[in-house]
Amino acid sequence: MPTQVPVTEGAFTWPSDAPRLIGSRCTNCGNHMFPAQDGCPRCTGSETERVELGTRGTLWTCTVQGFPPKAPPYIGDDNPLTFKPYGVGYVELPGECKIEARLTEADPDKLKIGMPMELIFIPIATDADGNEVVTFAFKPAEN
Ligand SMILES: [Zn+2]
Repeated sequence: MPTQVPVTEGAFTWPSDAPRLIGSRCTNCGNHMFPAQDGCPRCTGSETERVELGTRGTLWTCTVQGFPPKAPPYIGDDNPLTFKPYGVGYVELPGECKIEARLTEADPDKLKIGMPMELIFIPIATDADGNEVVTFAFKPAEN
């Protein structure tokens, strides 16, 4: 078994039996942010606390990434011959915030705005040390 390492330090709890995204919450107005920020863009407050975000939400908007993106620095299979399209979208976590994430579903016919989604973690690449690089994604919820 290769060791699994998170694609971004601090974006989610890892390793964990039930990993969660780590966001921040403004202690002044209650605004949630992901990735976590030290300041609040809504009320310009500077007091935030780290919170583990919910794992289920609804699809707010989405598109299908049909070729390897150039930026931001892309980690994954960037060979145009073997690259597999994937969905990207925003999932709105109820009472929290919208999360920009990969979607496991790449068929636009199977992605409907407002559909329930749940958080999962998927391997996307192998790093130079042979570790499996893991990122978060959302998949259509099963119920
Ligand atoms: Zn605020």
